[in-house]
Amino acid sequence: QQILVNDTFYPNKESAFIHVEDRGYQFGDGVYEVIRVYNGRVFKSFEHIQRLYRSANEISLSIPFSQNDMMSRLEELVNRSGLGTGNIYLQISRGAAPRTHAFPSTVESVFVAYCNVKERPEEMLSNGIKTITTEDIRWLRCDIKSLNLLGAVLANQQAHASDCYEAILHRDGIVTECSASNLFIVKEGTIFTHPANFFILNGITRQLILELAVKNGIKIIERPFTLEELFNAEEVFASSTTIEVMPVIQIDNTIIGKGKPGQLTKKLQELFSQAISSSLY
Ligand code: PLP
Repeated sequence: QQILVNDTFYPNKESAFIHVEDRGYQFGDGVYEVIRVYNGRVFKSFEHIQRLYRSANEISLSIPFSQNDMMSRLEELVNRSGLGTGNIYLQISRGAAPRTHAFPSTVESVFVAYCNVKERPEEMLSNGIKTITTEDIRWLRCDIKSLNLLGAVLANQQAHASDCYEAILHRDGIVTECSASNLFIVKEGTIFTHPANFFILNGITRQLILELAVKNGIKIIERPFTLEELFNAEEVFASSTTIEVMPVIQIDNTIIGKGKPGQLTKKLQELFSQAISSSLY
């Protein structure tokens, strides 16, 4: 395994070090990305890197190298790691300095990136996942992919404690997204998903799904929907870099679509797989 810290590659996690006063560690003061690699090729790298720089900008964190430079570092990391199919995790924290809430006057951001082997979740993709609903207790800038993930961690843990894969979040009965993915429902042949505002992370997978739907004449509308609409949906699916287009077959005690992935969900899975294939040429 290769661990990239700033400009240096380390041969394993044990040899790479983070300062105890790193602000990412103490405050969650930083941003991150998870990027998929299929057959050694970084999928949607431009979109992820753009979002990373946007997130950084929103928290006034300046990344000391260009987006092109970031792209080259990630490609070098994937090559050195010999990764076929898996994930790149990367984060940038504001850096290490004596602990004080306000930004220190001199501090250098710390960049960390590494890869993990991870095959596509074929079985879950064919069978679907079970979910729970829980209140969205996160802050009001969910559009920033920040290192502060406690709201997501607690919700996801609640799902796992109930033998479910994901937690669907709602604010006062309005469904926002899931703990680590976006959410879509199907009603009378139309797909609905929460608009990309401060309440959700605008997923790269979400954006690709919107694009694929439009290109293929599938009606998709960005508007908030209620828990009631969720429970009565014909189909429900979640999306993220790691779970792609994931059918939801159960929410709390309610079975969705006879407990099987729906037609439109399967159509989008197929279009998504084609998008992966065509990215490899
Ligand atoms: N929403 C949240 C809260 C997430 O953490 C993620 C990804 O981890 C997503 C949505 C999906 O984003 P993407 O498709 O870019 O992976």
